[in-house]
Amino acid sequence: MTDFTYRLAQKRQLVTELPGPRSLEWARRRRAAVAAGVGSSVPVYAIDADGGVIVDVDGNSLIDLGSGIAVTSVGASHPSVAAAVAEQAAHFTHTCFMVTPYEGYVRVAEALSELTPGDHEKRSVLFNSGAEAVENAVKIARLATGRSAIVTFDHAYHGRTNLTMALTAKTMPYKAHFGPFAPEVYRMPASYPYRDRHGLTGPQAAQQVIDQIEKQIGADAVAAIIYEPIQGEGGFIVPADGFLPTLVSWAKDNRVVFVADEVQTGFARTGEWFASTHEGIVPDLITMAKGIAGGMPLAAVTGRADLLDSVHTGGLGGTYGGNPVACAAALATIETMRQLGLPARAREIEALTKPRLRRLADEIDIIGEVRGRGAMLAIELVHPGTDAPDPFTTKAIAAQALSEGVIALTCGTYGNVIRLLPPLVISDDLLDEALGVLETALRSAAAR
Ligand code: PMP
Repeated sequence: MTDFTYRLAQKRQLVTELPGPRSLEWARRRRAAVAAGVGSSVPVYAIDADGGVIVDVDGNSLIDLGSGIAVTSVGASHPSVAAAVAEQAAHFTHTCFMVTPYEGYVRVAEALSELTPGDHEKRSVLFNSGAEAVENAVKIARLATGRSAIVTFDHAYHGRTNLTMALTAKTMPYKAHFGPFAPEVYRMPASYPYRDRHGLTGPQAAQQVIDQIEKQIGADAVAAIIYEPIQGEGGFIVPADGFLPTLVSWAKDNRVVFVADEVQTGFARTGEWFASTHEGIVPDLITMAKGIAGGMPLAAVTGRADLLDSVHTGGLGGTYGGNPVACAAALATIETMRQLGLPARAREIEALTKPRLRRLADEIDIIGEVRGRGAMLAIELVHPGTDAPDPFTTKAIAAQALSEGVIALTCGTYGNVIRLLPPLVISDDLLDEALGVLETALRSAAAR
């Protein structure tokens, strides 16, 4: 393991019940001021965070297995990111790249050309959120192809704006009663090997999708296919081997733009800079956000120069897109990931975690599958002896882990997946301790 250095003690320590009295007081104030539609899965209020821990307002130190949903891969306060933010903020926080451009934006675009898969000529455009990047990838694909249909998939999550809600699969809580949704979005079956009752190979599953696209939409009406190379919110679903390459090759033959949504999988999370590399695909466009800037809001679309440069000047942008402070954070984050070898660290985390969880899966009968890549790992929970999803037990396990000081998030179309997304700079000891807590919670749920 790389020797990481930390500002805060890397320990799990509870000094109150969770939530403690100060968090409860903030919860009271929040109810009177913050919209009820915003949920929080962990009821404690953070005051500090570093490496693998989050400290709350009551002084509890919790182990973080969520990274703020796959964002703080370098930690939530890495000194090089904090220094880059402070340095840039001391000079200028904003000019608007569409008014007075600056170096940081160009440097980030250069770095993205280098880091993303494929050695073709690329261009980038920067935004504030993953959803905004996805919306813009769709705009670019439509303009470049002169076509309007967008193919999305079961279990997909692409955001909460109107167009990205249309692309997202799950209604509750993301879409319910928020329609009408954007038109010309077509949903196809995803590759979900654990739940594929037909036992299709990846290429066979892709061929079924291709047949449906050709029959229902027509290849020459399709602007883009969008896919997460590991479906995130849908349940950390790794597609069957050959599924994505088959789709990508069909897209190429039919001049359909293939968009890899790497908002959650990107930036070292899965053991490669981008998860597309595991699949052996080179996407036409890649959408990115989350891990890109160490917690600062930044997002990007990077892809084929001919596609991005087909857009008229002024057609892409936004007041804050590629904010200079966020760009400084991104450059420091990327440099830190390189220096610390974080893609390799994600593979180490997989090696420390996956075999251990798989051994447990052999012992207890509530685990349907352990899957994922790098530090994006999941446990799918089912009723014993079946593959029927068990969201109730899933919630109970996450709640027990939290009561012991470990933050573990859930996800999945059926709400029955525990997802592990630790900061890549978590220490082996802390990870080991968190996994111990999780194992105990899983065993006691299995014994109920
Ligand atoms: N795409 C994917 C694959 C995501 O996981 C997410 C966020 N969970 C988004 C898009 C939307 O990103 P944001 O929340 O930054 O808009």
